Amino acid sequence: MLYSELARTYEKLETTPAKKEKTSIVAGLLKKSGEDLERVVYLLTGSVFPVWEKKEIGVAGNLMIRAISLATGFPESEVAGKFRETGDLGKTAEFCVSGKKQRSLVKRELTVASVFDTLRKVCVQEGPGSVDRKISLVASLLSSASPLEARYITRTVLEDLRVGVAEGILRDAISLAFSVGASLVENAWYLNPNYAEIARIARDSGEEGLKKVDLEFGRPVAVLLAEKAGSLKEAMRAYKNFAVETKYDGLRMVIQKSGGRVWIFTRRLEDVTAQFPDVRELALKSLPDGVVVDGECVAVEGERPLPFQVLSQRIQRKHGIGKMAEKIPVRVFLFDLIYRDGLLFDRPLSERREMLERIVIETENFRLADHLKNPDERKAEEFYRDSVSSGNEGVMVKNLDSGYHPGRRVGYWLKVKPVMENLDLVIIGAEYGTGKRAGAFSSFILGCRDPDTGDFLECGMVGTGIKEKSEEGLSFSDLTEMLKPLVEVEEGKRVRVRPEVVVEVAYEEIQKSPHYSSGYALRFPRFVRLRPDKSPEEADTVERIERLFRLQRGRSVTTSE
Ligand code: AMP
Repeated sequence: MLYSELARTYEKLETTPAKKEKTSIVAGLLKKSGEDLERVVYLLTGSVFPVWEKKEIGVAGNLMIRAISLATGFPESEVAGKFRETGDLGKTAEFCVSGKKQRSLVKRELTVASVFDTLRKVCVQEGPGSVDRKISLVASLLSSASPLEARYITRTVLEDLRVGVAEGILRDAISLAFSVGASLVENAWYLNPNYAEIARIARDSGEEGLKKVDLEFGRPVAVLLAEKAGSLKEAMRAYKNFAVETKYDGLRMVIQKSGGRVWIFTRRLEDVTAQFPDVRELALKSLPDGVVVDGECVAVEGERPLPFQVLSQRIQRKHGIGKMAEKIPVRVFLFDLIYRDGLLFDRPLSERREMLERIVIETENFRLADHLKNPDERKAEEFYRDSVSSGNEGVMVKNLDSGYHPGRRVGYWLKVKPVMENLDLVIIGAEYGTGKRAGAFSSFILGCRDPDTGDFLECGMVGTGIKEKSEEGLSFSDLTEMLKPLVEVEEGKRVRVRPEVVVEVAYEEIQKSPHYSSGYALRFPRFVRLRPDKSPEEADTVERIERLFRLQRGRSVTTSE
């Protein structure tokens, strides 16, 4: 298939907001993809490898500017200028290719296969000179590309495709294109989370083929997710036969062991085996062969769990992993058994837990999650309070009669955590957006008050909760309009504004942070509303943030509804 056909489809998808229409556009493309089917599916999702293969294209904006310059003859400064104007490197590449200053000697038509193969080559470049090789591979694609093709090649390289083919659309498109049930497609994906392969199976072997998809060692599976409960009581009322478990604050780990080998995957399907050699060792000793277990890995100091932020240093680590493992020891709490000589999705949790208790040889740092079966209200509250005051996030309430079904809205697990109080903070700066938000601010620097000096200190950045359109609530452009007259300093994409606008912000947690002048950062901040009734002097202080930070580790818990 020619790449131009894919590029035209991307364009159609970009301008078609309706999910149903998007689905039928994708289905149409899949049907005519022929031998390129898998490549087309990868490219539609903006990647060229499955998530867990850990291969990234690794070309950032500044390198992309060099590649565009190399392919089109525009000086880098001009490309960068055009980028500042459009806020979109895809459009910049399109513009430069259409006004190309140098003709390529050999013009070849790009095919889906040639683009895909070249992008894979870009991914695997390593070692000295790899940056230059990546740039020249990307430039080689751009020099054969039409302007429209250049737009999408650029966005794919930057891993920012923005055509809106979410997983739900792919699932429905595969179902529509090859006349197979959507839930069969989805169930197969849970066990082989790679739509490229699932599409091929659906086309070549239909529903029978999809039903045969099974868990394979060395490949991740999708996991069961929890829903929120308003309170512990509400969660306990949801199930007849339930267990309350500690909700640890760490990294979800699905650990597989087979043939004396161990693999560790995250909930986002990434392979983190290399980063956790200590967990691998523990699993080798504690687990029998041929199992897949589900659990949470937590950084610990003695018995006390440390915040997720500490553990995240281990997740990101690529070098000096052994030393890091010594510096930040971890403990794994297992709470489920997914596979033992076959998939256990249909077995009730009570049975899976019993099996887990039987097969795991527990050690200090590799053990089962605390688990209390059918406690009365008083016992459950005590458990919850203990869990939180020992530094955990809260509790999970789980239906003991239910199976294991990946996904969030399955209603088998409910999480209960203490709610953090909202903060009233002042906007002290902002950053210009890119793409469709070019020209408007897209994220906002939050400040808390230092009561000693009257200054405002940074404590986070918020973009979530602000709407695209004014009809839906306070929008990015509304807020931009409010802030523009307050701009005091411009530093590239960032501006500093006079602290006047007070906003109420919700968040999940407060972390220590060396990046912000207050020394604290809000985790997952979300804009709740403007507080025009408050003056900046009435905003929350750094002392209050400090107090809340201390409270949350040993959080005082209210179990009221
Ligand atoms: P959340 O991320 O807030 O939706 O909560 C769900 C996450 O809690 C899971 O993905 C796990 O990583 C984590 N978790 C911690 N303890 C448990 C537990 N006992 N059972 C299930 N999940 C847990």
